[in-house]
Amino acid sequence: MFSLLGKQAVITGAGSGIGQAIAALFARQGATVHIIELTAEAGQETAELIRQAGGTAHVYAADVSQSEPVQAAFQAIGRVDILVNNAGIAHVGNVENTAEADFDRVYGVNVKGAYHCLRAAVPGMRAQGGGVVLNLASIAAHVGLTDRFAYSVSKGAIFAMTLSVARDYLAAGIRCNSISPARVHTPFVDGFVAKNYPGQEEEIFDKLSKSQPIGRMGRPEEVAALALYLCSDEAAFITGCDYPLDGGFIKL
Ligand code: NAD
Repeated sequence: MFSLLGKQAVITGAGSGIGQAIAALFARQGATVHIIELTAEAGQETAELIRQAGGTAHVYAADVSQSEPVQAAFQAIGRVDILVNNAGIAHVGNVENTAEADFDRVYGVNVKGAYHCLRAAVPGMRAQGGGVVLNLASIAAHVGLTDRFAYSVSKGAIFAMTLSVARDYLAAGIRCNSISPARVHTPFVDGFVAKNYPGQEEEIFDKLSKSQPIGRMGRPEEVAALALYLCSDEAAFITGCDYPLDGGFIKL
């Protein structure tokens, strides 16, 4: 079950956290993994982990918010069976204290990043008769997290992008779904806490864990397991769906 043998999988932001866990699991299941990261160095650790485990991984340096480097990376990659739009950044602030430059930066990576990758990958998927896209949304898209205006807006756009792509390319055999995690313990969270709450890391970390109904943060591997299912042939009947992976955050 859940074999990705022979599949070419592109995962953006796979140098760290959730993307790294997805890349490692996809490689273990037989996929050739193509890592798109801000710099080649940022993708090396994941590529090495995969190679040491006997898998195949390639790294491409591209800022997903920029169209040209993304196009160049996909040209070098060639065939794409699976695209995981995972690269993302966060920002703290309500609408009044979100500067336009910050809004543009978050939107540029989280939304335009996914758009650029779709523009590069979809024509090939269509020509080859199908493919799978998985987007990383967030519970922020469902509940509008406090003081996360730009981030929530960007993830809401991902939510709609998933539906739009799923609808437009249903007949072309391209499935598109998203996962909405609650807080998952990754360098994304560590960096966020260190930057915004210096000196209070332990207290905030504890607060974040307790703010999840289940009493802890998620683990990258738990997101990767769902990602594997959604990108596998076993999920062939699933498209246009968002899957909260949230320890009960949205509903409990
Ligand atoms: P992370 O910060 O640990 O990893 C993100 C990776 O993306 C980094 O390696 C970074 O170098 C790369 N990246 C950032 N900007 C990039 C760009 N412009 N071009 C290419 N690569 C870029 O983050 P994570 O926690 O693993 O989050 C991954 C995704 O999951 C993000 O989209 C995030 O919004 C989403 N998410 C995370 C959480 C969480 O709690 N960790 C919760 C909900 C959703």
